[in-house]
Amino acid sequence: MPGVWEEHIRGRLEAQAKADLTRRLLSVTQVRGPEIEVEGRTVLLFSSNDYLGYSQHPALKQAAREAAEVWGTGAGASRLISGNLALYQDLETEAARFKHAEAALVFATGFMANLGLIASLVGPGDLVLSDALNHASLIDACRLSRAEIRIMPHADPEAYAVELKKVEPGRRVLLLTDAVFSMDGDLAPLAELAESARKYEALLAVDDAHGTGVLGPTGRGSLEHLGVDPAGIVQVGTFSKALGSLGGFVAGPALVIELLRNRARTLFYSTALPPSVLAVNRRALALIDEEPQVRARLQKNVRLLRAGLSEAGLDLLPGPAAIVPVMIGEPGPAAALARELLQDGLFCPAIRPPTVPPGQSRLRLSVMAVHTTEQIRRAVDLIPAAALRLGILK
Ligand SMILES: *Cc1c(COP(=O)(O)O)cnc(C)c1O
Repeated sequence: MPGVWEEHIRGRLEAQAKADLTRRLLSVTQVRGPEIEVEGRTVLLFSSNDYLGYSQHPALKQAAREAAEVWGTGAGASRLISGNLALYQDLETEAARFKHAEAALVFATGFMANLGLIASLVGPGDLVLSDALNHASLIDACRLSRAEIRIMPHADPEAYAVELKKVEPGRRVLLLTDAVFSMDGDLAPLAELAESARKYEALLAVDDAHGTGVLGPTGRGSLEHLGVDPAGIVQVGTFSKALGSLGGFVAGPALVIELLRNRARTLFYSTALPPSVLAVNRRALALIDEEPQVRARLQKNVRLLRAGLSEAGLDLLPGPAAIVPVMIGEPGPAAALARELLQDGLFCPAIRPPTVPPGQSRLRLSVMAVHTTEQIRRAVDLIPAAALRLGILK
């Protein structure tokens, strides 16, 4: 490697190490529901977005096997060429119905759905009001679009109203927000944002990666949870979290979906999803309707974990989703706590800058419907005990 490059790369890695921010990829060697084997050791999983445990659902495994038998293992080309298997049409009809939207379009991942959506929808001259804690995929999508971006104070509907009042008439404005914030687990003020969007003729786009399949009486997500009418709102969902699979989708007004079909580069220049994934995704949407008890079980587990950890004196961020952030502060102690817990058999990695702002390093616990009560109790015992040993809790 050329010397200037070697020196540059070593320097970057050393800076990362000095700031306690070195990242290491752990190898998962076996999966058995909420217990997994990490590098040969069995640990209890509290870090998966597979909230309903659907990645291990027998009906979904069956759907994957059957689709692979009938259609093969890959789509062979992008959807624009010959990869647009009929499974897509079924899935998109179901995804639109699921989100009570006019139409839907499926992308390879949630990340790619966001890139395709934002870069197709807005461009130079347009204005995007984007929440300060939006997911990295939305931030990158905004940069890619070359629109004017204004970073809004987190979950502050007043701030949006103030900005909207200042916009010259006729200018196109997009309000862009995570629905459930992925690192804080709180909800965007969607009712207020929808109202402002109506009043000022702006478009509202919400990324409900963590609400889809989890929140709302029928699992539709954050809008349903808050009782907001989805008409006219652009919603992004993923199949990669509660639905236990892979893929992202945009659901919303038919006109927006038609634009994406014509403009989204992440749709054209990337291979279509494999048939097994498409079939699993469709079946997973149906399971959300068929298994309300799994969602109820998840909510029960969330309540149990939150109550136990709060009682032990830990500092939690509130929220209705299955994400439970335990605030620590500095990255060093957060990483030490995660390491200690891994030794104890509990897998819940520390989240550190730049994923969260400086001073807000945390453990990010994800609850699953398939956790037993005993497993939740184990987390409630182990986490405060380790925090005490490390002097994080006094
Ligand atoms: C996980 C996530 C994504 C990306 O979805 P993938 O399907 O994993 O690519 C997008 N937005 C938010 C808010 C997320 O949490």
